[in-house]
This record gives sequence, C-alpha cells and structure tokens, in this order.
Amino acid sequence: MALPLAEPRRRFILIRMAFGTLIALVPCVSHARTDNAVDLFDEAIARGLPQTIVLDDGALTIESPLDVELHFPNERAGDVPGSMYLVTWRGEQAVLTRSGTHVDISMPRSGSVEVTGFSSEAEGSHHMETGAPHSFTESVARQASSQKMTMPRYAAGKTTIMKAQRAAAQPTLIFWLFLHDDTLGVTRQHIHASYVAWWLADMKRIFPTRRLSAIYSQHVAGLTDIPYGHESSLKDWSAAVDNYAWREKLPRVPGEFEYKFMLVTRDEVAPGASGLAWLGGDEAMASLTGRYTIVAHEYGHTLTASHEDAEVRWSSGWPCETNLMSSVSPLRANCYRYSAANERRMRRHMANEWTVPVRLDPPGIPRLRIE
Ligand SMILES: [Zn+2]
Repeated sequence: MALPLAEPRRRFILIRMAFGTLIALVPCVSHARTDNAVDLFDEAIARGLPQTIVLDDGALTIESPLDVELHFPNERAGDVPGSMYLVTWRGEQAVLTRSGTHVDISMPRSGSVEVTGFSSEAEGSHHMETGAPHSFTESVARQASSQKMTMPRYAAGKTTIMKAQRAAAQPTLIFWLFLHDDTLGVTRQHIHASYVAWWLADMKRIFPTRRLSAIYSQHVAGLTDIPYGHESSLKDWSAAVDNYAWREKLPRVPGEFEYKFMLVTRDEVAPGASGLAWLGGDEAMASLTGRYTIVAHEYGHTLTASHEDAEVRWSSGWPCETNLMSSVSPLRANCYRYSAANERRMRRHMANEWTVPVRLDPPGIPRLRIE
C-alpha cells in the first residue's frame, strides 16, 4: 500500500482473512531500511532532531527545523506544504527544503547556489543549476509613483481581517512569489532551493520573532501571464496585484499581516534589468537571468534596503558582495547576506510599521522605483 510521503512515519499492515474481508488496521513502526533518501530523511525527522543520516553522496546532519511556512503550487491538489531545516551537508552548513516528493539541499557557493536534490520518484541525487547568472547591470531609476495613491488597496471585509489577526499570533510577513507562465519549464522546488531557501533562513535570523511564509503560485490569470520586459513592467505588475488583492479580499494589516508580492520571470523584467522593486513598497520583480541573490536583492528593497548601504566584505579571504550590491563584479563572490547597515534598515522599517495604526486604506506614500 503506497502511503503519501507527508504522512507520519507510521505504517499500517493490512491483515486480510482468507475470504478477503478487511478486519484490522494494525499500526506499527517501520524499521525497514530503504535506499530512498527521502524516506531516510522522513524517518530521521520522526526520530527527533538532531539526526545524522548517511546518503550515497555524503553525510547529512539535520540540526533543527526552521520556522518558516512554505507552500508550493500543485496542478492536481491545491498546494503542497513545505518545511525547511538547518543542516550540515558533507561537513558544511546548508539549508534543506522538504516538500512533496522532494528533498533539496541548498549550498551557497561563491558565485552560485549548488542544489543537491533527492526525489522519492527517482534513484540517487540530482544536481541542479538554475539560470545562468549573468551580469546584473543596474542604472538605478528613481521615479515617484502616483499610481499607488489612487488604487484602492486590500479592501478586505472586517471579518476576514479579524480572522487573519487571530491566525497571526505573531506579526506575519508573507513573501508571495508568482511564477510567470514562461518559467513553467523550471521545477518550482528548484527555483526555491536556488534563489530563496538560503535567503529565507537568513531572514529568520534577521527577524526571529516574525512569522515568515513563502507562498508560490502559478497559473493565476491576470498575474502570471502579464507582459513584461518594458519600462513600465513594475507599474503593470503592481496594478495587477492591486486588482488581485481587491478581487480576493486579501487581508492586510500594516505591521501585523503583510504581503510582499514578487513576480518571478524567465527573461529580463525591463530592458537591461533582472530585477525591479518599490523602495519600501509591496511589489517586486525578479528574473531567473539574475544572480542567485536577485530575490534577496529585490525583496530587500521592499524593506528599504539600499545600494548605498551594500558592501564588499573581505572577511573570508576572498571578497564577497552583500545582497544589495548594484555594481557587481565577476571577480567577487556573493556573501549571501545583507550588510549590517541594510539589516538595520530592514529591522527599522518593520519596527516602524508595527507602530502604524491599523488602517484599511493607508494613505499612499510617494514611492521610489528602484532596480
Ligand atoms: Zn537594486
């Protein structure tokens, strides 16, 4: 009997009498060894952490769960929840994501994120390289957006908001990533493992008391099929999000229950730009042509992180660039971190929002469009 992998590690033995009538379901714990890495992982989790398991490719120590909620889209059955763990993989710190039939280990390397994936549907591991990180030339464009001031935003019913507030015991920040229809050739879990997993782990370090979620959506008419690649891509994306939020009555309580909407695209989001975001706003865009830090970079802008506060670090013997660096050099590695100054900016931004009185229609603030 095939059991869904997300089920607890308890197996059932079906006992049938000779005449074929089902008479009992006897729960028992399976001790059967299996060569499948996903099963081994699930069994280790069920035993309690930390645990070390030996896979074909090396030793994996699962240190602790990461308190981040994940949802992946699924063609057949709504969404697939995911969970994340801090791990040591072959002697190095890494982040692991478990969802559906996947286990993916994200290991940030100097210029790319190495992903070792295991699937319960395939033997052995597979390695993944997402996108071809090419140059990330940015000419920072700043322009005030008047659009934000006129759009009705998040007009959720009072009951919906109250429900959301009850659900959010902690202030909640939801990173909602809409995967453009043109990214359908790329596995969703691997977009997460390459561009997002390591960053979410770091965000949890920066915002330890905030509830963090990452939701991936695909095939959403009016959102994942919009044209982009032109100068007004970000405005168009924001208008599409506003319409969606209005239509779906998304609850949003400043400082308590917030969404940050990202459109993930295959090609450049605007001429010469692999990412765009409103500085301190709710919408951003990132292209898989960008560096592995592109999602961190653009989401950083939405939390007011700036290029000016990015830095080159020399601490590890080889220079690396923090997430908000705009003039990237192929000779420098990624740090996969924000600078201390940008961490402070983001914390201050969230802390200020916390003190903003709850309003359904916050007055629009002039925004800066930034790449
Ligand atoms: Zn930027």
